[in-house]
Amino acid sequence: MFGKMMMQQLTIGAAITHAERYHTSTAVVGVETDGTIARSTWGDVAKRARQLGSALTKAGMKKGDRIATMAWNNIRHLEIYFGTSGAGFVCHTINPRLFDNQLEYIVAHAADRILFVDQTFLPIIAKLRDRLPVLERVIVMSPANEEARNILPEVEFYDTFIADGDPEFDWPDFDETHSSSLCYTSGTTGNPKGVAYTHRSTLLHSMALLAADGMALGAKESVLTVVPMFHVNAWGIPYGAAMAGCKLVLPGPKLDGDSLLSLIHAEQVTFAAGVPTIWAGLLGALAKGGSEKLPLTRTIVGGAACPPSMMETFREDFGVEVIHGWGMTETSPLGLTNTLKNSQLSLPVEQQNEIRICQGRPPFGVELRLVDENGVELPDATGTGELQIRGHWIVEQYFNRDANDLVDGWFDTGDIASIDEDGFVTIRDRSKDLIKSGGEWISSVELENTAIVHPDVVDAAAIGVPHPKWNERPVVLVKLVEDTQPTEESILSLYKDKFAKWQIPDRVLFVDEIPRNATGKIVKTKLREKYGGLELA
Ligand code: AMP
Repeated sequence: MFGKMMMQQLTIGAAITHAERYHTSTAVVGVETDGTIARSTWGDVAKRARQLGSALTKAGMKKGDRIATMAWNNIRHLEIYFGTSGAGFVCHTINPRLFDNQLEYIVAHAADRILFVDQTFLPIIAKLRDRLPVLERVIVMSPANEEARNILPEVEFYDTFIADGDPEFDWPDFDETHSSSLCYTSGTTGNPKGVAYTHRSTLLHSMALLAADGMALGAKESVLTVVPMFHVNAWGIPYGAAMAGCKLVLPGPKLDGDSLLSLIHAEQVTFAAGVPTIWAGLLGALAKGGSEKLPLTRTIVGGAACPPSMMETFREDFGVEVIHGWGMTETSPLGLTNTLKNSQLSLPVEQQNEIRICQGRPPFGVELRLVDENGVELPDATGTGELQIRGHWIVEQYFNRDANDLVDGWFDTGDIASIDEDGFVTIRDRSKDLIKSGGEWISSVELENTAIVHPDVVDAAAIGVPHPKWNERPVVLVKLVEDTQPTEESILSLYKDKFAKWQIPDRVLFVDEIPRNATGKIVKTKLREKYGGLELA
């Protein structure tokens, strides 16, 4: 007889049970919605998650039922992550900055039965309550208070709700392919689409995230997740942190540079995850103080392209290593992270820094390939094409949608990329944001990264503006540092040696704000609408 290894289901309940047992007293710190700091431990988070799982079961929730959250990154939100999934329900994290009709659509489409909501967002729910008939209960994530009742009389309160639950509730057994959480895409066009992660996909993803070439997280780290818990499960960090037993820091509503900086110092944060716009705010706060020794040693930046100048400032001025990452709601999100290979360690530092600019290479568990416009596979290092992905934590089919979402078993990312001979991927653009001029294309990301190098520019967006002769021509919109007035020429001069003449933007427009959505992406549809009629010579 052959021997046999144990077969255990990979479940989120098992992840929190591990943290509960082996990292009981490790700190979990959260900034509350009112700005006060709440302190807990993995032991207490687990206990309250069990209470919640028990209370939801007693309340008649059935396996697979969707329980929604609309909340900042805080401790109750973390308890809900584990309490809902652990008990067999599906944690549906809603982006609070959706338009009213998108919110109405998502809640109905997901058939959410209960909504846990931060008091800040209660007015949104009160206003839309009649349009959310599937919701049976609205539970405010706080102790009982009159103010919330005045906004929406039917509300219940989290602390009272879980008081009814058993802190020793046993996580039920179920198959690892059962859904654990649900997240809708940002949906800049059409209705948002839901991605239902499974327990298995979430845990395999977390293991890749913890690994050395992922985020390299271990129990010695103090991890700040600035990326919202409604944005692809905060990139999976809450689950990974429980599995590794990291100290976890949840920043609450205030994500401005000064607030983050004081949190980084107060909680001795060693690793942080966020999108480039948020880090621009942090660098702004740091710039006020001159050079400063930070406890932070590494940060993972993704969600949008990290400008090379940002990496350089973090590295040169503050000794912080920036790991560039790429992913999507559909990919859990970890698809690429950028860490060097052994063979690259002997390269000159400048060359290494060049490599670090791209989005990185895939961990074991995902595969990537490029195809041309006819869907024919392009071998690596032969050019630019549409990026496709497959793997253990990649969507196969969207939630509750009757369509085949794959092409020959691959998911089409909608990104245009190139892959070098070492497997390092550079994301050139979203295919719909590429600027097509005279039959050639120009990467809007590269135009933006160049404008941002100008000392007076804080944010930049490049779009294609329709042109009678060239089809489209690039235009760059820039937001300036307060009280500065650079000329259009001084910004355009940055492109001179780096770009072919026809790739250089026709115009630079100075704007008050670059519109970005809640996950830090430039809302280019809005910009194209506004500036589409611009007359270009
Ligand atoms: P979402 O599903 O809302 O997180 O959006 C995923 C999209 O964000 C990807 O398809 C990319 O277009 C973009 N994205 C994410 N990370 C990066 C990155 N590091 N560089 C460039 N684009 C990125």
